[in-house]
Amino acid sequence: MLKLISFYKYSEVQNPEEIKNHLLTYCNNQNLKGKIYVATEGLNGNVCGEVANIELFKEFIKKMLGFEDTLFKEDEIDALVFSAMHVRVKNELVNLGIPGLTNKHGGTRLSPEKLLEFYESGKDFVIIDTRNSYESKIGHFKNSINPEMKNFREWKNVAESLQDYKDKAVVTYCTGGIRCEKASAYLVELGFKNVYQLDGGILTFIKKFPDTYWQGGMFVFDGRKVVNPNSKEELKYTSTCEHCAKPTSYYINCHNLDCDILLVCCKECAIEKNYCCSESCVQSSNQRSKIYE
Ligand SMILES: [Zn+2]
Ligand SMILES: [Zn+2]
Repeated sequence: MLKLISFYKYSEVQNPEEIKNHLLTYCNNQNLKGKIYVATEGLNGNVCGEVANIELFKEFIKKMLGFEDTLFKEDEIDALVFSAMHVRVKNELVNLGIPGLTNKHGGTRLSPEKLLEFYESGKDFVIIDTRNSYESKIGHFKNSINPEMKNFREWKNVAESLQDYKDKAVVTYCTGGIRCEKASAYLVELGFKNVYQLDGGILTFIKKFPDTYWQGGMFVFDGRKVVNPNSKEELKYTSTCEHCAKPTSYYINCHNLDCDILLVCCKECAIEKNYCCSESCVQSSNQRSKIYE
């Protein structure tokens, strides 16, 4: 049986290069695949492999100083969702471009149960997606504000444009929680009084409460591309194929490498349109060599 785990923890790493080599050797020996980022501010990773090896890997991480209480989000998978193991050193786990901002004074952690209660009780709150626009497009929480961000560094401007909500209950969310630690910390710094961050991110919420307040698919950073947690038809899609307008949460990057735009596109159209966004892109000679589906 195979498992995929996703984890992050902000905790000081003294020697990122050394830890990188250590992790890479370990993962290769255990036949694990995935991506891990190491920064002086912590670790962030998505790793898949045989269950027994994944369990050992979790213990391995927990033996690292400062990472004893790392939380792992887990999913059973039918096939490996990464084909190689990459470990990279980064300056920051997520780059918000605000020097000196730490996640230490982030928003209050809100459990999935509490968020459900917020919705069910009709509480007056604002919910904001801190992910990029291409992620929000294919799925988001009910009534959420989806800023059109191309990358996380735009959060600074978004946050400043949200000043009207300073006295309101504001819930931030992202895939697993890593971006909200900083996004919510910045809101607190701006003087927002009642800031929450969804604990465990969308990943944890949709596992516990599918078919409730999450609408559409969830963008994932592995070979699956998108996860569809809902079975109720009306909650399956928030987006439509840009070629044929059929509801879908599948997406591709245009295979014309000079274009490369991310477009929501059903699987049928992807094949029919040669994995391109337009006729002119099909004609381009600079095509992505690998058809990945
Ligand atoms: Zn289509
Ligand atoms: Zn194109």
